[in-house]
Amino acid sequence: MLHRPADRAAAFEQRVPRYTSYPTAPQFHAGIGGEAYGRWLTALPAALPASLYLHIPFCDSLCWFCGCHTKIVRRYEPIADYLGTLLAELDLVAGTIGRRQPVAHIHWGGGTPTILTADDVLRLAERLNERFDLLPDAEFAVEIDPRELPAATVTALGRAGVNRASLGVQDVNPDVQAAVNRIQPIEVTRLAVDRLREAGVTAINVDLMYGLPHQTEAHIQATIDAVLTLEPDRLSLFGYAHLPGFKTHQKMIDTAALPGAEARWRQAAAAAARLQAEGYVWIGLDHFARPDDPLAIALKSGHLRRNFQGYTTDRAEALLGFGASAIGALPQGYVQNAVPFHAYREAIAGGRLAVARGIALDDEDRLRRHVIERLMCDLAVDLAAACRRYGRSAGHFGPELARLADLARDGIVEITATTVRIPEAARPLMRLPAAVFDAYLPTSSAAHAQAV
Ligand code: SF4
Repeated sequence: MLHRPADRAAAFEQRVPRYTSYPTAPQFHAGIGGEAYGRWLTALPAALPASLYLHIPFCDSLCWFCGCHTKIVRRYEPIADYLGTLLAELDLVAGTIGRRQPVAHIHWGGGTPTILTADDVLRLAERLNERFDLLPDAEFAVEIDPRELPAATVTALGRAGVNRASLGVQDVNPDVQAAVNRIQPIEVTRLAVDRLREAGVTAINVDLMYGLPHQTEAHIQATIDAVLTLEPDRLSLFGYAHLPGFKTHQKMIDTAALPGAEARWRQAAAAAARLQAEGYVWIGLDHFARPDDPLAIALKSGHLRRNFQGYTTDRAEALLGFGASAIGALPQGYVQNAVPFHAYREAIAGGRLAVARGIALDDEDRLRRHVIERLMCDLAVDLAAACRRYGRSAGHFGPELARLADLARDGIVEITATTVRIPEAARPLMRLPAAVFDAYLPTSSAAHAQAV
């Protein structure tokens, strides 16, 4: 079991970005739009394998902890209408690139991608195949809500070539589920997993949460007991981020029932200890994988990456995002599509790329991104080697090293010569040393989650 480093309550309460990108999304600005994206797409090297992220922002009901861009719908018409726009966007982006770009990873996220009918799942997959050159060993992952998964949809996912599914579970306790408006008996999840495996979707991820209202360590242990019977290949364990000023539906959650910083720490530590004892490898901040899973293998070989979906084996230099609010990452910078549906739809209907904001990267951003990513993936980075790689002098990070001294005193980092290492006991706090290298953070007014 992890013990807290030096007792420093402020560290646990600090709000810092999750660093699924650097610079982080609050730094994106309207100066980067469809025109820049078009230039960046046409400059993609022909042989560069890309990744594709498709956002399906619809759900049947609202989970009160949700931090995603999604919309609750009762009818299929808005979904069918959105799918038409998404198909047109695939055509537009592939047309701008001017060829069938090779693709190594596909991820459908949401919202609930499986809210699409079986026919529409196949239609979307078919269009992807027409417009892009899917490599034979491509990973094709889809986020699943087990509560809404008709058998026909599962069959369609298998036929479409989906080979990895991420199932949201969070906590199996009925009181915790009621407190977040997501009732999901474990039998429902088990049926979904059985059907997916039968259909050939054999890699199974399970998403859990801590820090939910009324949640205790005992609930988390019971949840892990239950989900281990499903034999998942990977698990993620996210801390609930209560930001009701940003996500107004989170006001439905009783603040008085939320565990405090100390309890959150104990919950995360107990879950991590248990999963490791069961043979899972702890990956970065919040993922766990069987030792033979590609994520654990990537960690071992130093190829683990971090992107908008969290930790990934995806080494592609270009991630193309499709759908309202979708974020893309290209060698030149980041782009994000318009968030309001009407703005997204109007752009695509007018034959224009729907990017509303983004940021171009300079060499300083790339260096800092590399340092933050290695800290978040490997829990260590050699600053001298990083500076050499990006043509900076050895003393470049002098001010950051001085600021890290405070964290070193509290046992959150160890500094040896030019290497910064995060000790195992401070792993859940890794965002704090990462934030020291964030050149934008002191000026950012964005809302972020607690460090643990
Ligand atoms: S199903 Fe997922 S995306 Fe939809 S409301 Fe619940 S947590 Fe959010």
